[in-house]
Amino acid sequence: MLFGCSDSRLAAEIIFDRGLGDLFVVRTAGHVAGPEVLGSIEYGVSVLGAPLVVVLGHDSCGAVTAASVADRDGNVPVGYLGDVVERVMPSVLSARAAGHTDIDAFVRTHIRRTVDGLVGRSVLLATEVAAGRCAVVGLSYRLAESTVDMVNSHGPVPTVSDNPHQ
Ligand SMILES: [Zn+2]
Repeated sequence: MLFGCSDSRLAAEIIFDRGLGDLFVVRTAGHVAGPEVLGSIEYGVSVLGAPLVVVLGHDSCGAVTAASVADRDGNVPVGYLGDVVERVMPSVLSARAAGHTDIDAFVRTHIRRTVDGLVGRSVLLATEVAAGRCAVVGLSYRLAESTVDMVNSHGPVPTVSDNPHQ
């Protein structure tokens, strides 16, 4: 299953060359994970038996940029958009504290923290990962090159040969 940013250029089936019925997909702006997202991921893993959760972020992410601007200016957007920004903000603060200054470093920190946060917050997911039945992998997508880099992972990451479509 895939949990990714809602950015229009991150269409999961197109990026990973999958078709109807192949992927269980959850996407939010900046891949922020509230209770409904965690519940959806738990559904994918426990009910559908997904062996892999991919967290897909990307360079030049608008949500991460918005959090960076809000941190710099001290102005969090009004409405529910503010909730998205506030959920990204800890990643921006963490990356800045580590000495990073550019958006793409913030993005990678946010992907890593999202992966760690899913496993840290969902007891079900942590149990499946610890039992070796599921892996959670953070990938950063480069829009211009259409390539991904692995940022971090928990659990047994499948190899390409495990993929029935190859
Ligand atoms: Zn994005």
